[in-house]
Amino acid sequence: MSEERDLAGLESLERAARRLAIDAGERARQLEAVVRYGERHLRALDDAAVYMADRPPGADFARLGFDEQPCAIDEALSLLHEHVDSTGLNIGSPRFFGFIPSGGLYTGALGDYLAAVTNRYAGAMFAAPGVTRLERMLVRWYADQVGYPPGASGDLTSGGSIAALSAVVAAREAARLRSADFARAVVYVTALTHHSVLKAVRIAGLVEAVVRTVPTDAAQRMDAGALDRCIAEDRAHGLLPWLVVATAGTTDLGSVDPLAAIADIAERHAVWLHVDAAYGGAFVLCASGRTRLAGIERSSSLVMDPHKGLFLPFGSGVLLVRDGHRLQAAFRERGAYMQDFAAVHSGEDESAADYSPELTRPFRGLRLWLPLKIFGLAPFRAALEEKLVLARYFYDRISGQPGIEVGPAPDLSIVVFRCVPEHGDANEFNRRLCDALRADGGVFMSSTTLEGRYVLRFAVLAYNTHRDDVDRALELIRRKIAELRAAA
Ligand SMILES: *Cc1c(COP(=O)(O)O)cnc(C)c1O
Repeated sequence: MSEERDLAGLESLERAARRLAIDAGERARQLEAVVRYGERHLRALDDAAVYMADRPPGADFARLGFDEQPCAIDEALSLLHEHVDSTGLNIGSPRFFGFIPSGGLYTGALGDYLAAVTNRYAGAMFAAPGVTRLERMLVRWYADQVGYPPGASGDLTSGGSIAALSAVVAAREAARLRSADFARAVVYVTALTHHSVLKAVRIAGLVEAVVRTVPTDAAQRMDAGALDRCIAEDRAHGLLPWLVVATAGTTDLGSVDPLAAIADIAERHAVWLHVDAAYGGAFVLCASGRTRLAGIERSSSLVMDPHKGLFLPFGSGVLLVRDGHRLQAAFRERGAYMQDFAAVHSGEDESAADYSPELTRPFRGLRLWLPLKIFGLAPFRAALEEKLVLARYFYDRISGQPGIEVGPAPDLSIVVFRCVPEHGDANEFNRRLCDALRADGGVFMSSTTLEGRYVLRFAVLAYNTHRDDVDRALELIRRKIAELRAAA
């Protein structure tokens, strides 16, 4: 009797549960709606304001909530458009010059779609040997581009910050630092080191570590001689020089620290050299970039962000570690329920989980492999070289204008400049200029503060930014400066 009741209940549960498995016709309808939505978004990008001012959500925002009832996909997507995609930055615009631009290659998005549809398990080689081999091939490819030796290894991460965290943990384990040593361990950075590095040091447990801010030169690059002296002094005082962090493309202005000179010093003092190339790393793919990044191949670890320089959708970082065993030593663990893995791949187990704090993870390699395979490398190399030339073009044009003060000639693809008004506070004037550009929406630029000066940053890195877009930016800057001057 009670079994009958259970079985009757089971039938109704099954009926409801089966709604989750849609048939081919419904799949096609959903996909078509999503593709249409994506197309509308992409086609609007060229004319859309690069910054869409936020507005208070209003009562209608509650319609994004859900209950027991189904909702048609078109209705769901229209809510998405109204409440999610119509506010904030249009980062896919070719005239987004703020922070670090990112392309969001459509073919990369299709890689994500496929990865999610096939939903192969990318954490363990046992589950998807082909996924593991493809991702290892991609890690090897990155390592070759940088010039790392055959023993190098790495991880495809969700971004630069997480990659930096893994690097710091690998460096901590390589130096065998234990809690008793933490207060004597020294990290060497500059004032322009990305905050994710110190965040990683803190998360890795080393809040007590000594952080030495090494001076920079006039071009905002680390002063290698000063680094050498700092390390020697610290050692003489009984401290443990542990980690040197060089930046290959600072977020503020793209300056590249003197990597070869820093590598000499790190080697001589036997200190781990981590290179933060989250922004600049992709430039190894083009000839002038490779020259500017000389010495990067001598680091102990490095981080790159393909969601910046390889134009992939957000969620793509890479960690490389010169001595791959160091990375495995920091992260490899096993659970009893994983015993079946060994039976299949005793010799060749290169599971992603052994190089990462993650176990279950998306098949991240596909969003990179698909565009590289389909387009080939040539357009990537050209786009990167083009961005270096465009930055120089912008620099030459803007520096010729009256009242404009520029920072150093760009090492990579970021130019900093400010307008010096005839009277009044320069910082205030440039803050107003930045606000006026954002309000106009024709371009987007962000700012930073260098040695107390508020400066605007022109960062060019999107795959779809070309000379026309830079000319429009120059024209708009000229116009806004004239308007602000006239109003003063
Ligand atoms: C963007 C960036 C990071 C942080 O990377 P996320 O992918 O945003 O976590 C670190 N360092 C530099 C130099 C960067 O430009």
